Amino acid sequence: MEEKLNNIYNECLKELKDIGIDILNNKNVGVIDINISKRNNKRYGCCKQEEPDKSSKIIEKKGFKRIVKYQIYKKHHIEISPWVLKLNNDIIKNTIIHELIHCLPYCNNHGKEFKKYAKYINQNLGYNIATLGNKKEDYIKSNIQYNENELYKYKIICNKCGQEFYRKRLNKNFLRKYRCGKCGSKFSVISIKP
Ligand SMILES: [Zn+2]
Ligand SMILES: [Zn+2]
Repeated sequence: MEEKLNNIYNECLKELKDIGIDILNNKNVGVIDINISKRNNKRYGCCKQEEPDKSSKIIEKKGFKRIVKYQIYKKHHIEISPWVLKLNNDIIKNTIIHELIHCLPYCNNHGKEFKKYAKYINQNLGYNIATLGNKKEDYIKSNIQYNENELYKYKIICNKCGQEFYRKRLNKNFLRKYRCGKCGSKFSVISIKP
C-alpha cells in the first residue's frame, strides 16, 4: 500500500511538472511528506501544515474577533485515507493532487487561489479536482461495492424483530442497558472489524 501510494504520488508530481507546476522546486512550498492515514476517516485526505511563513500572516476580522491566519507554510503532511487507495488510479491521483494544491502558497483553503489551480489542472490533465469528492460515485466508478457502514465497527441486531443499526463505538454496558425501541427485546452485537 505504502509503495503504491509513493509511486502514484511521484506520477502526480511529474504530471504537474509537465504542465508547469513544479512543486518540488518551488521555494515557497517547502517540505512535503505523504502517508496513509492511520484512521479510516470519512474524508479522502488531509494536509496538515506547520511552520508558517511569518511574512504571509493575515488577520481576518469576524465581528469583534480577530483571527490570525497564514498563507504560506514550510512543512506539509499529506495523509490519504486507506479506502481511497482501493479506488481507481485517477481517483487516487485526484485526491493526491487536491492535497498537493493545498501545499502551494495561498492555497491552504478552498478559496480563489485553490480554485484557480484546480481549474487549470482539470483543463490540462483531465482531472476532476473539486473541493469535495463524491464517495459513492467514486466507488461505483471503481467497480467496488459501496457500503455506507464500512466505517463502523459494530453491527447491532435485535434478537427478536431483527432491527439492525451500526455504531462506531460501544459502551461496555450497552447490552445490559438498552432494549430494542421497536419490540423491547435484547440486542446482539457483531463486531465488523476487530
Ligand atoms: Zn481540501
Ligand atoms: Zn426488536
